Amino acid sequence: MNNLEIIKESQKYMPGGVNSPVRAFKDVTINPAVIKRGQGAYVFDEEGNQYTDYVCAWGPMILGHCDEDIVAAIKDTSENAIAFGAPTYLELKLAEHMCSTLDGVDMLRMVNSGTEATMSAIKLARGYTGRDRIIKFAGCYHGHFDGFLVSAGSGVMTEGIPGSAGVPELSIKNTLIASYNDIESVKLLFENYSDEIAAIIIEPVAGNMGVVAADKEFLSGVRDLCDKYGSLLIFDEVMSGFRVAYKGAMSLYGIKPDLVTFAKIMGGGLPCGAYGGRRDIMEKLSPLGPVYQAGTMSGNPIVMAAGYATLTKLYNNLDYYSHLESLGARLETGIREAAAEMGLPVVINRVGAMMTIFFTELNEVKNYEDAKTCDTKLYAKYFEHMFKNGINIPPSQFEALFISVKHTGEDIDYFIKTFKKLGDSSF
Ligand code: PLP
Repeated sequence: MNNLEIIKESQKYMPGGVNSPVRAFKDVTINPAVIKRGQGAYVFDEEGNQYTDYVCAWGPMILGHCDEDIVAAIKDTSENAIAFGAPTYLELKLAEHMCSTLDGVDMLRMVNSGTEATMSAIKLARGYTGRDRIIKFAGCYHGHFDGFLVSAGSGVMTEGIPGSAGVPELSIKNTLIASYNDIESVKLLFENYSDEIAAIIIEPVAGNMGVVAADKEFLSGVRDLCDKYGSLLIFDEVMSGFRVAYKGAMSLYGIKPDLVTFAKIMGGGLPCGAYGGRRDIMEKLSPLGPVYQAGTMSGNPIVMAAGYATLTKLYNNLDYYSHLESLGARLETGIREAAAEMGLPVVINRVGAMMTIFFTELNEVKNYEDAKTCDTKLYAKYFEHMFKNGINIPPSQFEALFISVKHTGEDIDYFIKTFKKLGDSSF
């Protein structure tokens, strides 16, 4: 079957033909490619078309597709260990590696996705503090747990909806919304709900309203307010962890959260997540403490092996991060110059190898309201043009593009050259 036939057939059996909404290309008039295989920086569809991939499975594939060490780890492990529902040495290896390399992570609990990690971290924060309310920021996305589906980023923002149907009022009544990079909005919530706030959850480098980095003063202001009011600070590093730096955004800012969540890169491309942090908080988890959280598949041996292969490879090759930074800078500079030549107003936000080109007339994009000024129809045209020329970028304005260590300078130059050709069309 060709791409289109598979898409049409898939639509009969899976809503929208997909298992996650952004894959269905809202606003874009062409159909998604059906990806058959990936190698390094490239993916190939069912018809044999090649695309340079800047989606990277929405972040995880920092080592490129089918990295030989990850493939070997998966193959070797699966010969003897698929699932036991019992402790394994592989879990210890990954947990020990992460706790010993990440500042402030004394203990970890493995789960199966970013959503599980964030919703469990919130429950733990509530159990620890005995408080119910949480603060999240408009435009941040922490997964599809009910309590987070308010002013959420990512697919929710792409769909242009405030939240999700099916979420009872009761599930979100304890979710308070603040404005990203606006410390006054956080102060106000603390003044109104001083001893009721269990935690603040934040993407320290947001990637789900497009890339928007927190200002350092803002983030340290958030830390101070948490300390002042006895609330926990949770960094959601599902996307930024092992991406913006090996030790994540928390190392870039030098700010320590009480709890931190991971997924994406830490699983090497397999379904994975984890949350961890201060020992006294983590010890409140069952079986040691009263906060119950469990998982049949949590700590799965194949996932642990893929995660360990990925993280140790990154840790043993920290120069990868300078390579990623230089590719990112080359892309940013090239696009900035090209847009200026074309007279196309854009804002480019980038942290290392994650970047977004915002199609807006504003001079900067610092929060959800700024991001919402973007011309999503124009973004869709840009997407289609890139895609038709063999470049796979996120099909939504409110996502990040990612570079892997397998991308080359030539790949980046081809991206810039293709972007420039937008000037030739009726764009
Ligand atoms: N948190 C952040 C920052 C994310 O970017 C995502 C997913 O994109 C999630 C949580 C949810 O992760 P998952 O899709 O693995 O449930």
